[in-house]
Amino acid sequence: MGDVDVVIVGAGAAGLSAAKSLRAAGRSFVVMEAMGRIGGRALTTDTDFGVPFDIGCAWLHAADRNPFYPEAQAAGWTLYHHDMALDHLYFGARRADAGDLDRMRAAEAAMAACLAADHGAEDRLAAVLADCHYLRASATFSGPMDFGADDDEISIADFLAAADLEPNYFTREGFGALIHRWGADVPVCLNTPVRRIRWDGPGVAVDTDQGTQAARAVIVTVSTGVLQFDGITFAPALPERHQEAIFDLPMGLLTKIPIAVSGTRLGLSPFDDLLMERHARHDLFFLCFPFDLNLMVGFVGGDFAWELEAAGPEASVDFARDRLIDLFGSDTRRHLGHGMMTRWGGERWMRGAYAAARPGKAQARAVLAEPVAGKIWFAGEALAGGLMQTAAGARLSGAAVAQAVSLCL
Ligand SMILES: Cc1cc2nc3c(=O)[nH]c(=O)nc-3n(C[C@H](O)[C@H](O)[C@H](O)COP(=O)(O)OP(=O)(O)OC[C@H]3O[C@@H](n4cnc5c(N)ncnc54)[C@H](O)[C@@H]3O)c2cc1C
Repeated sequence: MGDVDVVIVGAGAAGLSAAKSLRAAGRSFVVMEAMGRIGGRALTTDTDFGVPFDIGCAWLHAADRNPFYPEAQAAGWTLYHHDMALDHLYFGARRADAGDLDRMRAAEAAMAACLAADHGAEDRLAAVLADCHYLRASATFSGPMDFGADDDEISIADFLAAADLEPNYFTREGFGALIHRWGADVPVCLNTPVRRIRWDGPGVAVDTDQGTQAARAVIVTVSTGVLQFDGITFAPALPERHQEAIFDLPMGLLTKIPIAVSGTRLGLSPFDDLLMERHARHDLFFLCFPFDLNLMVGFVGGDFAWELEAAGPEASVDFARDRLIDLFGSDTRRHLGHGMMTRWGGERWMRGAYAAARPGKAQARAVLAEPVAGKIWFAGEALAGGLMQTAAGARLSGAAVAQAVSLCL
């Protein structure tokens, strides 16, 4: 393998974007991707329900700042503005009435005020949650179902650093398919896991099963989950502060459990947001009938998502189906069809959905973003500033890091 300016590890949104930026800057590069496809956590398939379904990212968040949004428009993708305000709330099987929903909205405002107030040294979302189930429902919606972590594992500072993601758009053709289309012109070495990055020489030497690639610098876009599990060995080891930052950015988990529902709309409208609060934090969110498809997309997040993923798809689909029957009655059973479960936690090349800083450790993102010896640069959703955890953020992070590397070479 001839020397190049930069090796990019990973062909998700960040890696593909870094490649495009380096190409624009006239730099030589090689992209190495462990999987047999590009896109990483962006993946649309139509094998489960006969219609495009996003296994990973689905919403184009912050469309006014999201570079994928104009591309989706140009590609003629069908876009739906989804306001993501809760339409239906259940406490167990009890349907919240209009008064409950008002109290829930008031609790959302109260939560925002609590977060903005000085919370002393306790940088933990759970610390501001009074014993009030409206507040808890509000926290479920924005915590496990959004941040991918339970409130006792969420840093308030990290939570506040995440931007407001309105306006949110949903696509019928699939966000994963859009990212695949956008990245298709980038040359990528597929099925090429990077095993080790040696950085004790003049540049870097990147070891794969196919050989070693020398370069002046490397941009590592793999998830912090992959880094935590030593998916890549660094020789010598990374500086202590980078190792700590990796430890402090564990992966949260969001798991989708879509269920086919036909012959009824259960009194719901397309794109309604339904949250079922349950004891033991076994909460479940449904995106109802997107684009009027025969589909209720269940979501679980945080610790419960890890539990259900370990329990397996059959148990998870049973769980989601049983909850629909709890809510809408036993007659619902005959309308329920096939279901499936996404499995990002057990996917060895991601090991979760996205990173959430540990309480007290929000600064870990900035530390990991510091280049190591001018040769090793990290990029991706975990380092995407306000757009952290999003595909747009990953893309912008990849582009920004590639520009910085290019200037330093
Ligand atoms: C269930 C779920 C729902 C989501 N919903 C949304 C949403 O609605 N909207 C949104 O904007 N975002 C959403 N996200 C987040 C979004 O998908 C990610 O933030 C984004 O895709 C991450 O891109 P990335 O390039 O940083 O990382 P990745 O996509 O993980 O790319 C990194 C790549 O590195 C590869 N890799 C790993 N190890 C190695 C190795 N050793 N050698 C070579 N390659 C390696 C991986 O295979 C992967 O392709 C969701 C994620 C999940 C899991």
